[in-house]
Amino acid sequence: MPTHLPDGKRCAVCVSFDTDCWSIMLRMRAVGLVSKGTYGPINFARGEFGARVGIPRIMEVMDKHDVRGTWFTPGVIADTYPELIKQLSDKGHEIAHHGYFHECPASMTKTQEKASFVKGIKAIEKVTGKKPQGYRVPFEIPNASELSQNSVKIMMDLGFKYISQHMGPYDFRVSKVRDGDKYYYNRPPKFGKEVDLLNIPVNELIEDDLAYFLGVNSFYPKLDNPSKVFEIWKMDFDYMYEHEPGGFYTLVLHPESTGRAHRIMLLDQIIEYMKQKPDVWFCTMLDLANTWRD
Ligand SMILES: [Zn+2]
Repeated sequence: MPTHLPDGKRCAVCVSFDTDCWSIMLRMRAVGLVSKGTYGPINFARGEFGARVGIPRIMEVMDKHDVRGTWFTPGVIADTYPELIKQLSDKGHEIAHHGYFHECPASMTKTQEKASFVKGIKAIEKVTGKKPQGYRVPFEIPNASELSQNSVKIMMDLGFKYISQHMGPYDFRVSKVRDGDKYYYNRPPKFGKEVDLLNIPVNELIEDDLAYFLGVNSFYPKLDNPSKVFEIWKMDFDYMYEHEPGGFYTLVLHPESTGRAHRIMLLDQIIEYMKQKPDVWFCTMLDLANTWRD
């Protein structure tokens, strides 16, 4: 198995965050995906809550359990809240790349994409003193979280170790990224070559936005019962623990969503539950990537 967990560990868990806050809403307006209505202090405050209240609450829960996570942070959020992001980094959390202003690669030209990567790296480096080595694609309708034809090469040129996306065939396994696939509508696909970039998969079914936000009417957030969300997250973890030894489980959370009171309590409960199982390794995604051996 190409990932080699520390001795005695049965599986790995990474609690990951997309530190979007208000960047996603402003980016969608910038590219015309939300064109009507005024974006003022009330809309801004929905995202600002994530930084000012959500992150400190999450830090408290993570401190309580002595768990460090990975925070995919747009550069503009690091530029706006440098002390907060530095505090996370100083506590041992990993600060990873999530665009400069939450830009989706598939929506940009090659020059724009490279500039976004470089600007995001500089913003994080300035605040934490460390170059980000992981990347998660910002979600942006209509391209969703899709790469451009240039993304993999740009990431490799810039020294990234991994991308955290649902690329590759696995849910609980790390794999190498395959670059240059060609897909057709009338014949089998032509597969590209594996490259020196890892894919650490995510699973949208265990993402807080799916549980709380993505309702039929997106203006009014969907509210799901925390006990139902707990059951789904727990059963996915239980399956991985029993059937995928050596595997890896991640949560994908957002401080503006999970920072709300009952969801913070849910985060506390699910970490508590996972910690009670023997031999679970809580790690950052970079820790996990560093266990890879060809
Ligand atoms: Zn995001």
